[in-house]
Amino acid sequence: MQAKRDLGIELPKIKPGKHQITYRVQDSFFVNQEDSPISEADLEAVVDIDRSTRMIDARFALKGWVQLECDRCLKPYPQSVSSHFRVVYSFDADIKEVEDAEVVWVDTNVPFLSFAKEIFDFLILDLPMKRIPPECPTDACEPILKLIASEGASQLEADEEPPIDTRWAALLQLRERLSGDSSES
Ligand SMILES: [Zn+2]
Repeated sequence: MQAKRDLGIELPKIKPGKHQITYRVQDSFFVNQEDSPISEADLEAVVDIDRSTRMIDARFALKGWVQLECDRCLKPYPQSVSSHFRVVYSFDADIKEVEDAEVVWVDTNVPFLSFAKEIFDFLILDLPMKRIPPECPTDACEPILKLIASEGASQLEADEEPPIDTRWAALLQLRERLSGDSSES
């Protein structure tokens, strides 16, 4: 296990064969990411690398937590993360598709191969659509929830009244017409 400041590898130092490198992904990583929904995190990224003449086959395993905002009460909470993905950094332009992997073309002569973009993209992709922690609502978010509930209730009343009225009006009209018809015949 090797702790590195930058998320990537010094390409000339990686010999053909298998390697495993572990990185720590924390708050500072997200500062430079545009439109990041995350500002606080503590993740471990284990990368299993297999270097051959044509490519670097990298399997990533992300584990830890990121801080997200609860959809319901907007309170920040730690979301656990366990994400696995595979990226093939290809030196060969002929390699266009690899099953279960994203293919990224790289120049063999590049001194440093960064994993930052792929780690960020896959992490964001794997975040849950519904962001509500199991402990929600907490005592802290209860006042907000009450406010939302009361606003929601008054909103509902305002929305519901007109359709009920028109439905009743339609029924009344129908009844009038029916009774009119029956009296005529
Ligand atoms: Zn909540």
